[in-house]
Amino acid sequence: MTWSRNTRTRNTLDATLHRLEQRHNALLRETDGIGLVLRGTIGARMMRCGQRTCRCKADPPRLHGPYYLWTRKVAGKTVTVHLTAEHAARCQEWTANMRRLDRLVKALQDVGLRAARAVARSG
Ligand SMILES: [Zn+2]
Repeated sequence: MTWSRNTRTRNTLDATLHRLEQRHNALLRETDGIGLVLRGTIGARMMRCGQRTCRCKADPPRLHGPYYLWTRKVAGKTVTVHLTAEHAARCQEWTANMRRLDRLVKALQDVGLRAARAVARSG
C-alpha cells in the first residue's frame, strides 16, 4: 500500500492537532483551582496631608500611610478605591490570580493559532 501525499499530509496534520489538543487540555486543567480573580493593581502609597505644620512637611519628611489603593480602568478611566491593609492583601492575591488566568488564556490562544496555521498549511 502506497500512501498518497494527501494521506501523509492528513496524518501529519492529525498528529499535530492531537498534540495541540493535548496542550490545550493541559492548559485548561491549569485554570482549575484558580481562586477569585480581580482586574486592576493593588498598591501602597505614602502621602502628605494638607496641614502646613505636620510631620509630613518636616525635614526629613515623615509621610502618612501606607495607604492601600486598588486602581483599575473603567471605560478608559482610572478608578481608585481605598482599601484596608487586610483587604489589600486579599485583593492582591486575586489580582495575581487574574494575571495567571490571563497568561493561560494567552497560551490557549497561541495553541489555537498554531492549530489554525497547521490547518491552513495542509491545504
Ligand atoms: Zn501631614
